[in-house]
Amino acid sequence: MDRQISLIPRQPESVTWNPWHGCTKVSPGCLHCYMYRRDESTGRDPSVVERTKSFDLPMRTEKSGDTYVIPPGSQVFTCFSSDFFHPAADVWRDEAWEMMRARIDCSFFMITKRPERIKDHLPSGWGDGWEHVEIAVTCENQDMADRRLPVYLALPLKRRSVMIEPMLSPVDLGRYIGRGSCTIDSVSVGGESGPDARACDFSWVLGIRDQCVENGVSFSYHQTGAKLIKDGRLYSIPREKQHDQARRAGLDFEGK
Ligand code: SF4
Repeated sequence: MDRQISLIPRQPESVTWNPWHGCTKVSPGCLHCYMYRRDESTGRDPSVVERTKSFDLPMRTEKSGDTYVIPPGSQVFTCFSSDFFHPAADVWRDEAWEMMRARIDCSFFMITKRPERIKDHLPSGWGDGWEHVEIAVTCENQDMADRRLPVYLALPLKRRSVMIEPMLSPVDLGRYIGRGSCTIDSVSVGGESGPDARACDFSWVLGIRDQCVENGVSFSYHQTGAKLIKDGRLYSIPREKQHDQARRAGLDFEGK
């Protein structure tokens, strides 16, 4: 019997690629890190940074050898169980960059709390950024925004995305938003999840949104977190409703 060959090209996917795993805490936003919670629940030490078995995932091919495991056009969430710029990963990062360079047919998205390490750890030929690689920064409160954003906004990046998650205080982006070509392109806000979550006040979320709308910057309310204060009342939001409740608030805004 003839071998059946599928002529249907594989569709792009959303894929998580964790080339290394483990991290060390750097700021208040790390207090209830989900990776720590998950590892500690299984007896694994989350502070040990290790190269993973899926390190070379972007370059892996199907058995036939002529198609990548990650289909062209896929969005690759990169290093979501560590920090791509963690010092312990300096020995592996160049190889990870080379895989991203080779997979220009995909888009890579990563988030860091270590923007001060980005400049010295970009790949050769980075120039003013690679279109298919987005590096976002997180700033959970005003102190972290004031430390990280001046560094982050001075970097050569095609797109500048700020995540305020878990949002732990009101954050004024006035000094950083709407200023010339090195401004913020998008802001995403969210509360904290987990049993010990710290509360996020809805008025803080609205405050950031107003700043974004005024300056034509894209805004997304990603999720409410487990504890939400609204009009002075504290609400507990079950995990499965946190994204949906945020979406229902109807705050997302498409910038210029
Ligand atoms: S930087 Fe991110 S991954 Fe690392 S400890 Fe903090 S929250 Fe966890």
